[in-house]
Amino acid sequence: MFGGANIWKILSGCCATDKRLQDKGINIASRCSLCLKNIEDDTHLFWICLFAANIWSWIHELFGFQWNPHIQNFETVTAHATTRSVAICNLWATAITNVLTEIWHHRNSCIFNNIPASSRRVKSKILANFFECSILMKSTMHIRSLPYLDQLKIGCDGCSRGNPGPNGAWVILRDHTGNTIGAMSAGLGICTNFVAELLAIILGLEWASDRGWSKIWVTSDSQTAIKCFASDRVPCLVGMPRPHNVK
Ligand SMILES: [Zn+2]
Repeated sequence: MFGGANIWKILSGCCATDKRLQDKGINIASRCSLCLKNIEDDTHLFWICLFAANIWSWIHELFGFQWNPHIQNFETVTAHATTRSVAICNLWATAITNVLTEIWHHRNSCIFNNIPASSRRVKSKILANFFECSILMKSTMHIRSLPYLDQLKIGCDGCSRGNPGPNGAWVILRDHTGNTIGAMSAGLGICTNFVAELLAIILGLEWASDRGWSKIWVTSDSQTAIKCFASDRVPCLVGMPRPHNVK
C-alpha cells in the first residue's frame, strides 16, 4: 500500500498542519505552502486549496468521474466508485490514497526544502506510483498471492516516527477473489518498530478470529515478526501499548 503510515496519519487527523500545531499551543503564523494564500488546516490543505483542487480535478477527469469543487471530502470522493467494478473500486482507492499522500509529501517538500509548489511534479509522481502499482497488479506474483476459497489473507504493517517512537498499525483483509473485506488503522502509542509489527499482526488476527475465520494467511514485511509467530515464540507483550482508536 502506498504511504501506509502517511495515509493513516492523514485519515486519522494526525498530520502536523499549522492549525493543529496552533491548537497545541505552538505560536506560529499559518500560511498554506501550496497556494500561499489561506491558513493551513486539514480541510484546506487536502480538499479546498486551489492546488489540491487542481490535482483532484485532474484525477477525476482521468477516471471519468464528476468533480464538484464545492462538495469535497473523503466520503464524497470515495463514493464515486461504489457502483463500479471491483477493479475500478480498487484503482480509485489507490488513486485517492496517492493524491492525499502526495499532497502531504509535496507540502513538506515545499516547507523543508524551500521549493515552490508544482502541480506538474505531483501529477508525475502519482502517475509513476500508478505505473509501479500496475506492474504489481499484472505480475504472476500477485495472481499467486490470492488466498484459497475459505481462507482470509491479512496484510499488515506497523509504522513509526522514531524507534522507539509514536507508532501506528494498519491491516487489510482480503478474500479469495482479492476483494478487500476490511481495513483498519490504529494508534499504538510509544513503542518500538518490532512491537508495532507484532501488534499489527495481532490486531488483524483478533479481527479475523472475532468474525469466525479460522484459516488465515498473514503477510508482513517484518521477517522477524513472522518468524516469531511461525516458531510460536511471540514475546510477552504485557505492559506494551494496546491498539487504541481503532478505525
Ligand atoms: Zn492552499
